[in-house]
Amino acid sequence: MRFRYHQPIPNFYEIENPHHPKTTISDDFLKEFRDIAIASRFAGLSYAKLDDEFKKEWKIDWDNIIILKYAMSEEILRRDPSKEKCRLMDEEFQEVGAKTFALADILRENGFMADLINPLDDRVSLRAIALQSNDAVITRSNMCLFKEGLNLGFFMIETSIENLPFKDENELEWVRDYCSTCGVCIDRCPENAFDDDGKFLRKLCTAHREGCSVCINFCPFYKRGYDKVKKRYSRMKK
Ligand code: SF4
Ligand code: SF4
Repeated sequence: MRFRYHQPIPNFYEIENPHHPKTTISDDFLKEFRDIAIASRFAGLSYAKLDDEFKKEWKIDWDNIIILKYAMSEEILRRDPSKEKCRLMDEEFQEVGAKTFALADILRENGFMADLINPLDDRVSLRAIALQSNDAVITRSNMCLFKEGLNLGFFMIETSIENLPFKDENELEWVRDYCSTCGVCIDRCPENAFDDDGKFLRKLCTAHREGCSVCINFCPFYKRGYDKVKKRYSRMKK
């Protein structure tokens, strides 16, 4: 399900894909690319290798995905749900989206195939791709959590680069157990978008329609950050 208030992003490519794309990136150039991304607004990068089963399920033929994560503005997240909040969230989305095209152009210019995945395409779930990175989990409040934070939006680039630093194991699996002990989002949700067992009820959540972010603002992963919550969890388990 996508955020209904986002508008399509115009095509900002300035460079064509190479005819014979390279498939191997050097560590130095990948680091340079990451540094440029972070300097231009992004909080971090993750990488997903899509296996045959996943590609068959979603009817796609992509292999290698670069996930560019950006932190949504705290000032906007603090606002109550409203049309104006949705407009501001879309404005930020458009601004960051334009930067993603520029990053894809850098890859193209250096001989790699790089295409922005349409973030508004209902045929494929970017969140499902994010989980393939082994660098994210879905929290109890149905948010996609990466180590960089809970308030992340993301764009994705499909690329010919085959030697990205893909992760085999997900270090964030513990978050599900932590969520089972927390439940702050359930207590704070103004829409009661959870059933009696604490299971998230998607149809009642207004995040995608009206820009609700109440549970983000109260979640320990947002208020304290991933590392502090992890430390607390480790102490709880001793
Ligand atoms: S508020 Fe608590 S239960 Fe809800 S997502 Fe955050 S950590 Fe998990
Ligand atoms: S309605 Fe708001 S507080 Fe409730 S789950 Fe959705 S985003 Fe979170």
